[in-house]
Amino acid sequence: MNNNNHYNPSAIESKWQQKWESDKIFSPDIKKATDPYFNLMMFPYPSAEGLHVGNMYAFTGADVYAKFNRMQGKDVLEPIGLDGFGIHSENYALKVGRHPKEQAALAEKNFYRQMRSIGNSFDWQRTVETYNPNYYKWTQWLFVTLFKTGLAYRDTALVNWCPKDLTVLSDEQVIDGCCERCGTKVEKKNLEQWFFRITKYADRLLQNIEGLDWSNKVKIAQTNWIGKSEGAEVEFRIKGQEGSIKVFTTRPDTLYGATFMVIAPEHPLVASLLNLKFKISNLKLAEIKEYIEATKDKTDIERTGEGKEKTGVFSGLYAINPVNNEEIPVWIADYVLSGYGTGAIMAVPAHDARDFEFAKKYDLPIKQVIMPENGNPNPTEERRDGGAGVIFDPKTQKYAVFLSPIRNNFIGLFSGGTEEGEDEEKG
Ligand SMILES: [Zn+2]
Repeated sequence: MNNNNHYNPSAIESKWQQKWESDKIFSPDIKKATDPYFNLMMFPYPSAEGLHVGNMYAFTGADVYAKFNRMQGKDVLEPIGLDGFGIHSENYALKVGRHPKEQAALAEKNFYRQMRSIGNSFDWQRTVETYNPNYYKWTQWLFVTLFKTGLAYRDTALVNWCPKDLTVLSDEQVIDGCCERCGTKVEKKNLEQWFFRITKYADRLLQNIEGLDWSNKVKIAQTNWIGKSEGAEVEFRIKGQEGSIKVFTTRPDTLYGATFMVIAPEHPLVASLLNLKFKISNLKLAEIKEYIEATKDKTDIERTGEGKEKTGVFSGLYAINPVNNEEIPVWIADYVLSGYGTGAIMAVPAHDARDFEFAKKYDLPIKQVIMPENGNPNPTEERRDGGAGVIFDPKTQKYAVFLSPIRNNFIGLFSGGTEEGEDEEKG
């Protein structure tokens, strides 16, 4: 300790860190910057007493990159702050029984002390704390702006709900059907909540990912998260009764192979059936009720997981396939989830593994409509080329059927589109 030739981190680091800060060497004058570089990283969220090693992992690489750019003569601005106005901070405040505002002040003190000791080149003149009113007035402004332009709207949706933490969880926070934080079995709950019409920007978001200098893994995760599927919405009328079922399909070319339909137990049509809006027998009604009861508490994984046995019940209704007017039975089955697409599918057992399994079990017809070039119609394989196809023309609201993917090879036009899309917002 008293040997001056030895490196003593707590003495040397803190001495220089203090000097860097008092000399403001990491606080560039942005207005005078000749070669500015904005080195932004994700701010930590205070979900505990202090930093965890994952924060350090994330900051170190980014800070090395800041240093690299600084050594190339750039004016690097590396801001820092705390993302402390969300579920993680709230849960932590609940856990320790302290008001979130007091907890935020305590967390700020400790987090900033720890972050200073790391010696990263943060600009301590420019910090952002999301729980600070001078910050969140802008998120409020943003929300009001989105609301006024129709981009924020209220709707009900099935969400993951932790009955212990009394909070909504994202899909990523549900691990094997249980809450990531407390391990409680996650429930599905129909809740009214706010949504952003982010789907309106799916094309632009996807396009912009292409040009990013990110790892492929992150790009794929972002693409899946945006979740845009190319496809068409097709409406099937119900035979002899008022009503229709809308499906979204990425494979409209398989419409001819649809031999039955499946709706999720949560589909509004099921509620209509139970409310006697359709003419079905009492026996059938009892059967449906029994099935709904039996599937109520199953998790998404129990419902859709590979190797789980598919179950279902015939609804008593028939739908009409818009391409050939064929009458096909409508089944209720929990392997279809209400949160994805429209909560209804046209089942194409010849070309979809799960529909195939279901058709086999309930003895439903299987009709092959696509013959791949290798001659092997494998139902597990997603195929886009070959065979007949259907494309949707949004201008004429009509579907065009073609025999091969070459689009000038039309065999007919028919309308099957629907006017009442979810795009009621003003341009
Ligand atoms: Zn929980």
